[in-house]
Amino acid sequence: MAYPSPNDQIPVFFEDTSVAFASKSDAKLRKTYWLFSLMNQARVVNLGTFFIKLALKLNLPIKNLIRVTIFEQFCGGETINDCDATIASLRSSGIGTILDYSVEGEDKEASFDATAAEILKTIDKATGSDTIPFSVFKITGVASSDLLEKVQRKDDLSEEEKAAFGRARERVQRLCAHAYEHHVRIFIDAEESWIQGVIDDLAYEMMQQFNRERPIVYNTYQLYRHETLEALKTAFLTARQKGYLLGGKLVRGAYMEKERLRAREQEYFNPIHTSKEATDTDYNLAIDFCLDRLEHISICLGTHNEYSSQYCAAKMQKLGIARNDDRIWFAQLLGMSDNISFNLAKAGYNVAKYVPYGPIDAVLPYLIRRAEENTSIAGQSSREFLLVKSELKRRGIGSL
Ligand SMILES: Cc1cc2nc3c(=O)[nH]c(=O)nc-3n(C[C@H](O)[C@H](O)[C@H](O)COP(=O)(O)OP(=O)(O)OC[C@H]3O[C@@H](n4cnc5c(N)ncnc54)[C@H](O)[C@@H]3O)c2cc1C
Repeated sequence: MAYPSPNDQIPVFFEDTSVAFASKSDAKLRKTYWLFSLMNQARVVNLGTFFIKLALKLNLPIKNLIRVTIFEQFCGGETINDCDATIASLRSSGIGTILDYSVEGEDKEASFDATAAEILKTIDKATGSDTIPFSVFKITGVASSDLLEKVQRKDDLSEEEKAAFGRARERVQRLCAHAYEHHVRIFIDAEESWIQGVIDDLAYEMMQQFNRERPIVYNTYQLYRHETLEALKTAFLTARQKGYLLGGKLVRGAYMEKERLRAREQEYFNPIHTSKEATDTDYNLAIDFCLDRLEHISICLGTHNEYSSQYCAAKMQKLGIARNDDRIWFAQLLGMSDNISFNLAKAGYNVAKYVPYGPIDAVLPYLIRRAEENTSIAGQSSREFLLVKSELKRRGIGSL
């Protein structure tokens, strides 16, 4: 792998917290600091998670507290139109929005239909917009996880299950066709390995239909899996053979613990790399592979990793690729890694934020994951906490 050498010019840096937090007033920044300092403490997060779940079950009036704290930090609102203020604010810093309807854990046909209808609305909202470059959805938002798992295992399906899978495929088809008709690019998120095979199959089926003239459908590649780099290369060859363009969102992968646990319990080979370094190496090799084939591949780097973002920027410069080449995007989650997003955008790269939205109780699992991710590990404060702290210091306004 050709890492940037010390002689390479690094085109973008992420230390400048004044850029990252320019849109936050002193009061807002203090509030963010307070929130991240709470999340930094594992005990607070564990206890908080327990009480929030309990309070919601008991119908205690806790939603407002969630709304003005963690929800405000990580979500755009409860409805698509609630997100307008966030979209406008990101736009003023040259950052796009990817509306992410984040309702999770539904398992009824009616809710799959409702989710599909909501995703169609996000595509409509993106249509003709210069601030919403992509739409996104999870297959498990429109299909049952259990059913997907059965299909992946090649179990014998009952007539009812066959019909349910047919309806799931039809929803995926409807979403991608709508995106195609409206010239909106759409990401299919990656999920757990025991259903990812079916997700991949559906994604390639859609790409074959809709990526002939331009990349519309993007599959997601989790580089924390041993086999993903090879799978990306194979997907490229297949796309070339079949005459369509490959769209790829490159991520490291979000289900590491769950994957490890299940592999151990069911005694099969853990599909996740044995070290972070191996994941990082494959992630950066995937960037290399795609940038060298841009004629046929369009990518989005879904990452909060500074090195990979700089690595991609340096390699683009080396290859003479314009910073705003529409085939390369960087994306981070709302409320996280603003130092990367805002500095990249300021330097002229294509950047967008995932802006999750949905009813508070339905997005709770997403919010809990964000809180856990921002907890200090082995006594080391979270990255976000340190960034906010350093900006408070820079402004000379102390911590609280
Ligand atoms: C815009 C966006 C979209 C995303 N979409 C998806 C998606 O569709 N599907 C999905 O699964 N995730 C998705 N993610 C989450 C992503 O996969 C990561 O979990 C998260 O971004 C953290 O990884 P990182 O690249 O930001 O960097 P880092 O913080 O540098 O890396 C952390 C990641 O490295 C890997 N890792 C850590 N320790 C080890 C270890 N010991 N061995 C092997 N690997 C290790 C894990 O994947 C971990 O999440 C998305 C993230 C973003 C920003």
